[in-house]
Amino acid sequence: MSGPVIELKSVERHYEQGSRKLTILNDANFSLQRGEMVALVAPSGAGKSTLLHTAGLLERPDAGDVILNGRACGRLSDVERTAIRRNDIGFVYQFHHLLPEFSALENVMMPQLVKGLKPSDASERAAQLLDYMKVGKRAQHRPAELSGGEQQRVAIARAVANAPLVLFADEPTGNLDPATAGYVFDALSALVRQSGLAALIATHNLELASRMDRRVTLSEGKIVVMR
Ligand code: ADP
Repeated sequence: MSGPVIELKSVERHYEQGSRKLTILNDANFSLQRGEMVALVAPSGAGKSTLLHTAGLLERPDAGDVILNGRACGRLSDVERTAIRRNDIGFVYQFHHLLPEFSALENVMMPQLVKGLKPSDASERAAQLLDYMKVGKRAQHRPAELSGGEQQRVAIARAVANAPLVLFADEPTGNLDPATAGYVFDALSALVRQSGLAALIATHNLELASRMDRRVTLSEGKIVVMR
């Protein structure tokens, strides 16, 4: 299907803070095409996580809508949004959140098993993804036995295990030294280009942001081109 993979249309997001209403997103508009990698660069507290969680259907917009592959998702039930998240949306966070008692391979199999794939198929795809992320040799190791960069590459493989349409990443290299951050970013970038995935990546790393297709920031609750 042509057209944007995901669109935010006049999205609003407010939080109550005591008696004060905090406006984080205000008439926020944005769209992402297949194969596109966009950096979201804004200071702490500007609303990056709120934007990623709203676009990723973890939070509901207070007004406006999130359109995923042509389907309006803002008003869907929790059950429907959970199903869409499982199939069509991947998340990577600053900390890997891998399950500690399972191997890297099992961590990447898990979302596929939840979706209903046969273990043999899930295992085959998990092994391919780990190879692609250049951590195939570490497939049988548990997260605690992996370096920070390896853990993040496994987390990325897990995020794309069900071949989502969109990947959202919240400071995915924020916890890594610059060389490792560059290496993890290269692997992520190759994956996005190769698979036609679309990615919105919050980062403070301006060097990595400069290597993405576009850079946006948040200003007065709107998503604007970064100058
Ligand atoms: P960023 O990711 O850019 O650091 P966030 O989206 O986490 O920013 O937060 C934006 C603002 O919204 C902050 O001022 C934060 O304190 C506030 N905020 C975030 N989540 C909530 C919440 N659940 N309830 C109240 N305020 C919140």
